[in-house]
Amino acid sequence: MHIARILEASADRYPDHLALVFEDRRWTYAEWLARVRRFAQALSDLGVRPGDRVAFYVSTSENSVTTYFACQMLGAVAVPMNFRLSAGEAAHILQDSGARVLIYGRSLTGNVERIAAQMHSVHDFIGCAYDRAHIPAGHLHFETLAEQTADRDEPRIIPSGDAISSLVYTSGTTGRPKGVIHTHANDIAIAMNCVMEYSLNHTDNALHIAPLYHVGGMQAYFIPHLLVGGTNVVIGRYETEKTLDTIAAERITTLFAVPTQIQEMLFHPRFRDQDLSSLRLITTGGAAISAATMARVMAEFCPAIFNGYGMTEASLTLVLHPQDALRKLGSCGKPTLISECRIVTDDPLREVPPSETVPRGQVGQLIVRGPQAMQGYWNNPFETQKKLNAGWIYTGDLFSQDRDGFYYFHGRADDMIVSGGENIHPREVEEILYRCPGVQEVAVVGLADEKWGQAVTAFVVRSDPALSPQALDAFCKASEDLAPYKRPRRYEFLESLPLNPSGKVLRRELVARHAPQPAA
Ligand code: ATP
Ligand code: MG
Repeated sequence: MHIARILEASADRYPDHLALVFEDRRWTYAEWLARVRRFAQALSDLGVRPGDRVAFYVSTSENSVTTYFACQMLGAVAVPMNFRLSAGEAAHILQDSGARVLIYGRSLTGNVERIAAQMHSVHDFIGCAYDRAHIPAGHLHFETLAEQTADRDEPRIIPSGDAISSLVYTSGTTGRPKGVIHTHANDIAIAMNCVMEYSLNHTDNALHIAPLYHVGGMQAYFIPHLLVGGTNVVIGRYETEKTLDTIAAERITTLFAVPTQIQEMLFHPRFRDQDLSSLRLITTGGAAISAATMARVMAEFCPAIFNGYGMTEASLTLVLHPQDALRKLGSCGKPTLISECRIVTDDPLREVPPSETVPRGQVGQLIVRGPQAMQGYWNNPFETQKKLNAGWIYTGDLFSQDRDGFYYFHGRADDMIVSGGENIHPREVEEILYRCPGVQEVAVVGLADEKWGQAVTAFVVRSDPALSPQALDAFCKASEDLAPYKRPRRYEFLESLPLNPSGKVLRRELVARHAPQPAA
């Protein structure tokens, strides 16, 4: 089966049901399918063939999802790109993927003109703007192609399950983004798995505020709603107030938000003004959510919250369901039906067969395999060999399991702090600080220190401007759950944490900003 079949099947079952809402435009399933088919025809007329890469560098919008499905219809490979990338970073992805068509948003025209001068693999540049006048000479116009191309219903090669559907670049939290190879079979497994885990159905009305160029937004959230004939509401640029307004106005039932977005909503002055009662579930993930935030969401926002752990390479792997959320606060739950998981000794020099499973309760590296697991990294045999072994993906994330089999995230192996010879997981310190009144967000890192090797340092975003380092230290001292050697040695207050668009704290940026400057 191929991904476009999901759209065709829902259009067959629910032709008049609202499929997609973007700003003031609305498409039923029949209308949107017709638009996707016309755009697929336009790409085919440009010479796009099965296996060709079509990149899109456009803010979260109807254009990006229409492009994604048009590619799937042709068996072409969709290459969604983060629209916040600079011209140089975008050029790297275009080069790496060997894209022959680039679809770009109007606000990125300047970057694209710089890229166009050096990018010889890209034959066609297609600009997205409703008004043709904004498209530079020599470039094609998305709206004209999507609306004025006749769908000739040409026979096409139907891609098989093991054909590549997309190259999804990782968030680049630890280094340069890597192109993860997804097949049609991978993405169908992911979508069906999410439908089941979240019990989605055709009455669901999903709001998209997380990036659609990541697996969490597209494969694990947009496509599952499409599969059941639900409605996908897409807002262009995420803003807290607009999100709250849209939940109320569109009677949204399901919301995926990264932990930072949830914090921003909870702390927004207008949070209590809106009628948010239509929400039947919130799913979160992509980064760790504190137990304190989970409890607050259940009490004040939406009683049903799912904490999903996943990565571009394996999508939704673990999920904590609402019925367990209170008794297992702080956990990422259990493996999803299709995910086989083990926690193994964190041995960087992995051997075959994979490293040993650690005893219950001990911390080790999570490995996962299943029908959703990536086929490897595009053009990157070195990283593929490091991360993939006999079908198992080595996540680089540290986990332990409790008596009942629930998984607990301790952080990325690379983020571990070694202070005074002791290993400290930033997450356990963050969990305590999140309980302290006046703390909105916190990130703990180890900064180089002569005495300790690394000094535990907490960067704090305050909701109470009077909160002092002394008060934070007193709070940690009073906590029974934090050993003295884990207490932060330093506190720094920030207006906001440096985050990438997936909502992940850029710890290396915090470390770099505070690294001792070399003497002039
Ligand atoms: P890169 O691989 O380029 O450095 P990245 O790993 O951040 O970037 P993604 O694939 O988007 O790119 O993110 C996956 C990572 O996000 C996981 O490996 C994990 O560290 C983190 N993560 C995802 N979900 C959760 C969650 N629910 N709780 C804690 N961490 C999470
Ligand atoms: Mg990663």
